[in-house]
Amino acid sequence: MSDPQWWLLDDLVLARSAIDRAAERRGDGDWVAQALVDPASRFVQVHQGHAVLEGDRLALSGPVAADVPASLLGIDDAGVAYFCAHFDDAPAIDENQRWADLRMPGSNLDSMDAGLMVASVALDNWSRTHRHCTRCGGELSWRDAGWSRYCSRDDASHFPRTDPAVIVLVRDGEDRALLGRQVRWEPAWFSTLAGFVEAGESAEAAVRREVQEESGVRIGSQPKDLVYLGSQPWPFPASLMLGFHAFAQDAAIDVDGEEIAEARWFTREQMARACESGEISLPPAVSIARKLIERWFGEPLPGDWSRPLTRPTR
Ligand SMILES: [Zn+2]
Repeated sequence: MSDPQWWLLDDLVLARSAIDRAAERRGDGDWVAQALVDPASRFVQVHQGHAVLEGDRLALSGPVAADVPASLLGIDDAGVAYFCAHFDDAPAIDENQRWADLRMPGSNLDSMDAGLMVASVALDNWSRTHRHCTRCGGELSWRDAGWSRYCSRDDASHFPRTDPAVIVLVRDGEDRALLGRQVRWEPAWFSTLAGFVEAGESAEAAVRREVQEESGVRIGSQPKDLVYLGSQPWPFPASLMLGFHAFAQDAAIDVDGEEIAEARWFTREQMARACESGEISLPPAVSIARKLIERWFGEPLPGDWSRPLTRPTR
């Protein structure tokens, strides 16, 4: 099989990471305490899921005040330790710096910064929403250099959550691609179908269920009808997107109207025309959805949600 549509996606920008996470150091309290005050250590400043950037690079700082909690992100090839510092109140930043959401600069970051920022945002989202023990409501203390929390009342440890979600480019017998528009989206926004994996469900079953629920389209039942293509973290707030290609057995569309307002099959020609005219707008380059669509299409398509093409007026 040499069809490139079946190769694993290797250009998922938020899946790139160049840092050694050094998980074996997290439990070494003496080493962590020393690294936290080492002037050579670098800190990603995070606040409300945003990080400080300067141009297309993370603006890293030296050690932060002792009352700002920090999580160990890893160690680089030169032995420098990297942390993220979790600020409840945003600290002052330089004039040429800015607070950025991962979706905005994500595709411009290099592999080192992408890995640092994705982990920082994921840990920060978890820290802000999991301050109390889920068993007894007690206060939690930080452990493992920020990678776990501990409740002394019932001796329980808590770890960062990751919620798996499936996202799928569905094709039919005429090699058309199925895209949908969510009810809460702008009228021109179209993307691949996606949804969370439910409790006790496999990723494959979630793909079949979500596609049928949202669009009425049924995926074929053969193993070859569903192919896994790769994953990337999507910490908004805590997802891991699992990407698939699937073949439809029955292409009839019947949208649910609750989550999906509209679903359409596109030939490549229709897709190119709709994107070029601004009739539809696809997700930004940082998303796995866009990579799935462009993998099927065969080359990059113009415009995205953050850079919409305006429909020509006559
Ligand atoms: Zn507890």
